[in-house]
Amino acid sequence: MEDPDRPLALRCSRIATPEGLVDGVVVVMGGRIRAVRAADAPLPDGCEVVDLGDLVLLPAAVDTHVHVNEPGRGEWEGWASASRAAAAGGTATLVDMPLNSSPVTTTPQALAAKLEAARAGSIVDYGCWGGLVPGMDAAAIEALAASGVLGLKCFMCDSGLDEFPAVHEADLRAAMPVLARLRLPLLAHAEMAADAPPWHGDERSHAAWAATRPARMEHDAVRLLAALAAETGCRVHVVHVSDPDTPALGTAAGTTAAGQPLMTFETCPHYLLLDADSVPDGATAFKCAPPLRPSSSRRALCEWVVRERPAVVSDHSPAPPQMKAVDSGSFASAWGGIASLQLTLSATWTALCDLPGVDAALLATCCAQRPAELAGLTHVGRIAEGSDATLVAFDPDAHWTVDGERLHHRWALTPYHGMHLRGRVVTTWLRGQRIYVSDAADEFPATDAARPTLGTTTTNPPQVTA
Ligand SMILES: [Zn+2]
Repeated sequence: MEDPDRPLALRCSRIATPEGLVDGVVVVMGGRIRAVRAADAPLPDGCEVVDLGDLVLLPAAVDTHVHVNEPGRGEWEGWASASRAAAAGGTATLVDMPLNSSPVTTTPQALAAKLEAARAGSIVDYGCWGGLVPGMDAAAIEALAASGVLGLKCFMCDSGLDEFPAVHEADLRAAMPVLARLRLPLLAHAEMAADAPPWHGDERSHAAWAATRPARMEHDAVRLLAALAAETGCRVHVVHVSDPDTPALGTAAGTTAAGQPLMTFETCPHYLLLDADSVPDGATAFKCAPPLRPSSSRRALCEWVVRERPAVVSDHSPAPPQMKAVDSGSFASAWGGIASLQLTLSATWTALCDLPGVDAALLATCCAQRPAELAGLTHVGRIAEGSDATLVAFDPDAHWTVDGERLHHRWALTPYHGMHLRGRVVTTWLRGQRIYVSDAADEFPATDAARPTLGTTTTNPPQVTA
């Protein structure tokens, strides 16, 4: 066990600070970044010096879109396996979605059960989104907010779970003023189900699946959300944007009093790297909602990420092989969700690294800073004095091939199996302690450093409780 109080100095020629890549040394004391200094600056006495050479030192990724599913559906994914996959992929903070755990996180009691499961299993920091479902009045929303969720997530289409029904315009009109008053964001799965086309064609065809979820469903949902955000002042974050024409529709929402966009957007590595055009028949590991899009859309979405630097988060959502209908290969009956938690940095880097104007600082902005801002986490997401020393050493020049069996999440099934990726996580630190070391005999040397990250509705941004 490392001494968490011993000063640590990480020398690196490419430190990803908010101002860009710098050559220097990050001085860590008591789990926090004490200073970012020039490479030849004097160091504190008794300091352990780690020379990272030409690796990139990033703030550890903050993944605000993860479906851990424990309690209740731990056989889909649990905190022990998910958090190890996260650490190995350079993610040291998970914010869990209110489904598909059971109970879903729509009450303070359900949140308490989830936090207990996370406390027992997680080796990375964790926080939770609450769920917004029809029938929750202001008191129910206030009680959930007061219990420590970082915001509320809703579905505008079928979530797949009976206990987590879709919200409609009237539900949003009732809830959004409450969230605005509580200064919590509303996260939305933005697909309007009302005009979804019926299924035609072969059940094993991804194209047939994608035709039932056209991009206009995403556009229609975002138009409604933008109008309601403008009307109520509620901050809205659209999860997993799949289409490059979607984000521009959010400008209709306007800005906050502080001049920030009222509506923000995230996308996921799979929409940046995987093409609908090349999904084999029956390969249900690729099924997600919204579906993967054609390569032309994918390329335009990549250009949007490079231009606007939004949050890029995993939407890690695994399910057991039988739920993914691996035997029949039926896209019609397979559960939607892509298992990818360990691959966020590598897949995002592979998708974007050859585009003009991209260097590794993009990973710091998109995979750490923006998601931390969304969740109101001020202590992580940036390499800056005073931030937690929650960091990743990343080799942007590594090439490797994904073997699903060797990933740490619950099931081997992933559409990335056999893919050649660029960039690999070497070490992950949580508040100065190494929680992952690649190729070491003990890959996860510190497993007891994790903490819950809870919001408060009175003193946003959230506090961290020990
Ligand atoms: Zn999701």
